[in-house]
Amino acid sequence: MASGSYRNGGPKLSAKLDRQHSAMYSTPKASAKSRPPATPAAASGLRRSGAGSPASIPAGNKVPGRVRVAVRLRPRNAEELVADADFADCVELQPELKRLKLRKNNWDSETYEFDEVLTEFASQKRVYEVVAKPVVESVLEGYNGTVMAYGQTGTGKTFTLGMLGEEDSAARGIMVRAMEDILADISADTDSVSVSYLQLYMETVQDLLVPGNDNIAIVEDPKTGDVSLPGATIVEIRDQRSFVELLRLGEAHRFAANTKLNTESSRSHAILMVHVKRSVKGRHDAEPGLPTENGNASRLVSSLRPPIVRKSKLVVVDLAGSERIDKSGSEGHTLEEAKSINLSLSALGKCINALAENSPHVPFRDSKLTRLLRDSFGGTARTSLVVTIGPSPRHRGETASTIMFGQRAMKVENMVKLKEEFDYKSLCRRLDIEIDKLIAANERQQKDFEDQVERIRAEAESRIAEAERNYMNSLENERLKYQKDYMESIKTLEKKWRINQQTSSNDKTTVEHDQCLEKTCNIEGSTASKSEEIAGVRQLLQNEKLLQEATEGEVNDLKSQVLHWKNLEAAASAEIIKLRKMLDNEANQRQKLEEEITILKGQLVQLSVEANETRSHLDRGGSGKILTGLDSLVSQARNSQIRESGNVPKASIAKLFEQVGLQKILSLLESEDADIRVHAVKVVANLAAEEANQEKIVEAGGLTSLLMLLRSSEDETVHRVAAGAIANLAMNETNQELIMDQGGISLLSMTAADAEDPQTLRMVAGAVANLCGNDKLQTRLRAEGGIKALLGMVRCGHPDVLAQVARGVANFAKCESRASTQGNKVGKSLLIEDGALPWIVKNANNEAAPIRRHIELALCHLAQHEVNAKDMISEGALWELVRISRDCSREDIRTLARRILTSSATFQSELRRLRIEY
Ligand code: ADP
Ligand code: MG
Repeated sequence: MASGSYRNGGPKLSAKLDRQHSAMYSTPKASAKSRPPATPAAASGLRRSGAGSPASIPAGNKVPGRVRVAVRLRPRNAEELVADADFADCVELQPELKRLKLRKNNWDSETYEFDEVLTEFASQKRVYEVVAKPVVESVLEGYNGTVMAYGQTGTGKTFTLGMLGEEDSAARGIMVRAMEDILADISADTDSVSVSYLQLYMETVQDLLVPGNDNIAIVEDPKTGDVSLPGATIVEIRDQRSFVELLRLGEAHRFAANTKLNTESSRSHAILMVHVKRSVKGRHDAEPGLPTENGNASRLVSSLRPPIVRKSKLVVVDLAGSERIDKSGSEGHTLEEAKSINLSLSALGKCINALAENSPHVPFRDSKLTRLLRDSFGGTARTSLVVTIGPSPRHRGETASTIMFGQRAMKVENMVKLKEEFDYKSLCRRLDIEIDKLIAANERQQKDFEDQVERIRAEAESRIAEAERNYMNSLENERLKYQKDYMESIKTLEKKWRINQQTSSNDKTTVEHDQCLEKTCNIEGSTASKSEEIAGVRQLLQNEKLLQEATEGEVNDLKSQVLHWKNLEAAASAEIIKLRKMLDNEANQRQKLEEEITILKGQLVQLSVEANETRSHLDRGGSGKILTGLDSLVSQARNSQIRESGNVPKASIAKLFEQVGLQKILSLLESEDADIRVHAVKVVANLAAEEANQEKIVEAGGLTSLLMLLRSSEDETVHRVAAGAIANLAMNETNQELIMDQGGISLLSMTAADAEDPQTLRMVAGAVANLCGNDKLQTRLRAEGGIKALLGMVRCGHPDVLAQVARGVANFAKCESRASTQGNKVGKSLLIEDGALPWIVKNANNEAAPIRRHIELALCHLAQHEVNAKDMISEGALWELVRISRDCSREDIRTLARRILTSSATFQSELRRLRIEY
């Protein structure tokens, strides 16, 4: 069959397909739905496109398929290993269950299911096989397909897709591996592969293969919906090496294009398009209805038919970083730019939602990216999405939104969201498992003991029986022998007796004979013959005596043997008793564990009940004290009745439980035990990293406790972690005021003055920098020494600390500038008053981008107000402004600096004085 020969044309791949079809695509639900149809005839009917497709391929049928989504976790990087050392990862992966737990706080997490969960240890090979291989295989079968990576910048999108793996072949990414599989499967004579490599930035498509070709139009065929880019360069690929070269060239152009446009690659989408064209051989021969009686005629008809080719397209998209652009605008983008940067990504999200919900309208037209993916995404195409995340709890918000994007990309019905509580339930589960194991081990041990006891008993019994048997046998033998000997000696005596009688007179009576014998013995005993006889008899008697003695010896021997066996039996019984005792002990331990579990379960229920009662009491206006978790644990360990009650609504259990937990943890901040204090402050810091917890922590007095710790503790770890927690809480305006009201600035200054660890200083500087961004706190912050404290921290010289100081300075300058513009502030900048200018000038060209960027902004803010101009000139800031206006890598800041320089009279006159043209 002709259509069959196409399949046979790719036997390698078909075999591979069956064997290796990845887990991600082979779940029963998924495989039934989304695997392309088994026969090429059906397959060919699935392509929507008509242009370029053979007329014989009917259109219409659709493969129902959903976007398959894998999540991949990047390992901690060097910076996270240090900076997050005190914190747990924000996610926990359960790859075997294809689940990911996103930690909400220390005892609560949310669980999400994906098609595949790839841990930080997942190899590039495995990632390719589960994410991209099925898509590549279906592209080779004639479908369009898309592989996309979505995630925050730095989480591994490019690592997953674009690694060339020239130094380490195991590191090859999806693009390279996909091309290897494609080249291995096609036939060089009849098929062809060609690629385009593009970048999409701010709704403009640029050609990465021919730089300068930077406004490429997207054309859609109105009839077929096929998307093409007539302006893009298409390069035919013949071997893997030239493809890798091409990727490298594209990367270099991407870098150059981004430098030219002052963009970062994290803000643009990179798109690799692989066009596969295959000819379907031998198809005509098998088509029914051709005249076959005349071979020539048939051949003629065949040769008149157009050759059949099957075209498909693989699109690999390295999406722009999904993080939100800094709202403060310190990235230097105007609002319009920001909107346009995010447009394609948000339009993609909308299309994914619409496709997932089977909405009749999918807004493909809303952005360039979605227009470009129109014929390769959802619907008839196979689509794989890998969402990449990092482990750092500092980026939990971004990680959560990435996960939600991935979840939306899966069909709604597949959005499984499990709620699980940590701690008690999981502890119970763990204990249950432990007990089951112990029970099984116990059972096995008991069985072994019993078998052993039985064996020893049987052995002892058989030995005793054997010994008794031996004893009886030898006794019987001895007795028989003795009897025999005895009878024989009697016989001998009788014989002799008779001979004697014959020698005496035959007529004497038996009585006379007796007397005579006696006389003979007494009187004639001395005669030789008589003496001999007597000696013979004596000898016989002697022998008998000896025999009897030997028998008695043997009997004694046997008796002592029996005694020995009896002793052995007693020892075995003692061992049995010992083993029994051990078994009893094991059983006791097991019972104790079971009791502990029951108590824990009781406590869990009790905690909920108690919290619920407290809540309803408070709701009723009561002023009841919330028992701490510890109190309630202790009191309820004794109260067994409660164990049975469990009718508290689930949602309120989770919520109330959380409150009781928080109170308890905060109380531990004041523990006598230093270890417990350190542990507790880490837990609070972890909690404070979550925006959702911050209000609760502050309400429960956590902020006050943390500030107290800065005052009372001597421990640098406590200072570092507490300052980190305060920095997190200080992101919110209300908290910023609370911190100020509670003397936070002087406490932070004190901590900074004592600190040596750069990480502690980073946390403190971060906290102060956050306070610097509050318009209302400017004057107080300065009055209480905030600016001086911030500047004092630069002594440490660590770039992370400097970056925070620079951020604080930029924040402060921004607020001041705003206040001046609105007429709420007159006079010189407080930063200048407090002597910040020399440091600002010195670091304006710092090699670390985050420091430089903040300082450049701070300088522009300060320079916008004429009152500051004189000081700026005298401290040398004017030169920095000139430099910024010329060399700054960011166009918006460059323009701003130029505008300030040309509009400020003071600067203009100074520049004129120095004869500098501006
Ligand atoms: P993105 O493209 O999402 O911005 P990158 O792919 O550039 O992120 O990755 C950022 C850094 O993390 C790179 O140095 C990269 O080598 C490293 N990285 C990313 N994912 C992994 C991983 N799975 N294993 C090891 N290193 C990784
Ligand atoms: Mg990247």
